[in-house]
Amino acid sequence: MSNSAEAEQGRTDPKPAHAATLAVNAAMADALPFSDMQDFEDASRGLIAEAPRQVANADGRIVWDTAAFAFVDEFENAPDTVNPSLWRQTKLNMIAGLFKVSERVYQVRGLDISNMTIIEGDSGLIIIDPVTSIETARACIGLYFENRPERPVVAVIYSHSHPDHYGGVKGVVSPVAVAAGKVRVIAPDGFMEAIEGENVLSGTATYRRAQFQFGTLLKPGPCSCVDTGLGKSVTRGARSLIAPTQLIRDKVETHVIDGVEIEFYMAPDSEAPAEMHMYFPQFNVLNMAENVTHNLHNFCPLRGAIVRDPLLWSKYIGDAIELYGSKVDVLIAQHHWPTWGRERVLELLSIHRDLYKFIHDQTLRGINNGQKPSEVAEALALPEELSSQWSCRGYYGTVNHNSKAVYQRYLSWYDGNPANLHALPAVESAKKTVDYMGGADAILARAADDFEKGEFRWTAEVLSKLVFAEPSNREARYLLADTFEQLGYQAESATWRNAYLYGAQELRHGVMEMTISRTLGPDLMQAMTVSTMLDFLGVRLIPERVAGEAYVINLKISDRSEELALTLSRGCLTHLVNKSDPGAVATMTLTHEAIANIAVGVSTLDGEEVAIDGDREKVEALFAALDDFNPMFNVVTPLEAS
Ligand SMILES: [Zn+2]
Repeated sequence: MSNSAEAEQGRTDPKPAHAATLAVNAAMADALPFSDMQDFEDASRGLIAEAPRQVANADGRIVWDTAAFAFVDEFENAPDTVNPSLWRQTKLNMIAGLFKVSERVYQVRGLDISNMTIIEGDSGLIIIDPVTSIETARACIGLYFENRPERPVVAVIYSHSHPDHYGGVKGVVSPVAVAAGKVRVIAPDGFMEAIEGENVLSGTATYRRAQFQFGTLLKPGPCSCVDTGLGKSVTRGARSLIAPTQLIRDKVETHVIDGVEIEFYMAPDSEAPAEMHMYFPQFNVLNMAENVTHNLHNFCPLRGAIVRDPLLWSKYIGDAIELYGSKVDVLIAQHHWPTWGRERVLELLSIHRDLYKFIHDQTLRGINNGQKPSEVAEALALPEELSSQWSCRGYYGTVNHNSKAVYQRYLSWYDGNPANLHALPAVESAKKTVDYMGGADAILARAADDFEKGEFRWTAEVLSKLVFAEPSNREARYLLADTFEQLGYQAESATWRNAYLYGAQELRHGVMEMTISRTLGPDLMQAMTVSTMLDFLGVRLIPERVAGEAYVINLKISDRSEELALTLSRGCLTHLVNKSDPGAVATMTLTHEAIANIAVGVSTLDGEEVAIDGDREKVEALFAALDDFNPMFNVVTPLEAS
């Protein structure tokens, strides 16, 4: 290796913790009650069998790999490069296996980011949340069958509409059994609509941003990804979906399923648009889905989403205390470990009721006192009664970004200062700033000094300006990467850590080239309505290519007897459902699968069997005007930079 190549490699290697990072992490180690081992006791209680550390798919490819995190077991105390509070959570999330929660209630934890809860009915099993992928779901139920009698699954319950709570469904039941009525699939009202809403229209961008949130492209290690906060990591297995056969619609509904009474409590627009809690009166077990877990959750995750309603979220927890507080003995959720004993359950519930309400209320207090997003978030500190609770720590959400989400929910992106109303876009602003600051060398010299002083939040801001002005400036990229790295080492939040460290990786090594199979699996496509597909076609339309054009195309979906009229006008696509327009220039007849493939871009008009009656040229012109999204766009460097 040449000297210059060696020097280059030295610049792109992970660096040790800076003195300022050591100080931040040491202060955290002193501030929190590390001698309290109750969570470790709870996370291990009822262990029947440990989980396998790897799960492979049919081709032998490893899709779940806790073995990659084996280094976590090697360090008793946090390495210098990991925040000690996060280290504690990463150790807790290593505890994986089949656990008995109470009579007839079992959980498989740590074999996916989420939990599979298994309820033993009179004749078969009720599965709550079949985790994220078919392979890990099979591994979960397989672990159960190795240790408990093998009985048929009679019902699947989806607690809410996020993929880590339904994606493995075909690993526990077959669609044929569901279609034959042998297995009920129960979900909260609005379940399918919520899945479409969160996965389709902005799906490409959230897919890319999720790589930063979860650190999916980081190789686990003490200087890299250690956890996601909610669980170890994200499975690379195959995702599936079977549409529910029964929806819970009323605020409270009670059903007896295979001899097990379940009181469902609807909690829409909390952690997910469609979510519900469950109470089991025979076992005094309360399942809070994902609304009370052992960390501060997200009001808006880093991958991006419609901002959740923390006010409702808190009220739902308050309702749970009111409804079940006099009888509940065990609290479970679909992430993390249970809590036993009424007193402790009530304490955890009331802590989280107050946690979410506090951030909501105090952000609004700051807002009404005139504070801007960064000011209100910076000033907001939890009271000691909350901040000293492990379950309130921000391993997934943070007080800081949740506060900004509250601002966004009530007041939008605009902070009210007209200086920010029409600011220059990132690159133009960066170029002017660098020029005003005296150029790249002047900035680099001062940033290097500030880096030495440990002023990483500032060096991140100023060096990012320089990288956006001069994306090929290696010194700027490397010092920004070193900066992100120290911020990652300091972060208590796993999602912040992943974002910083993955940002550093892309600055050092560029955006990973990868072939994206597709962001939507075949089952999700099958479940999509044609109306949503046409909405997505509108999102893909490049208006310049159809400038001045205006016409209507009828669609006949041959295998579903559906008709829609798609209107192009003013560079915009709109449509009507159950409509065949007599003035249409053409009628396309095709299957649901064909329009799905074309709509999401896995196929084209030519690649599918489409009968076109009428003006073929106009149809072709429209479908030739669609954008193709590449999810691996630049994030930490300008969009156009290499
Ligand atoms: Zn989840």
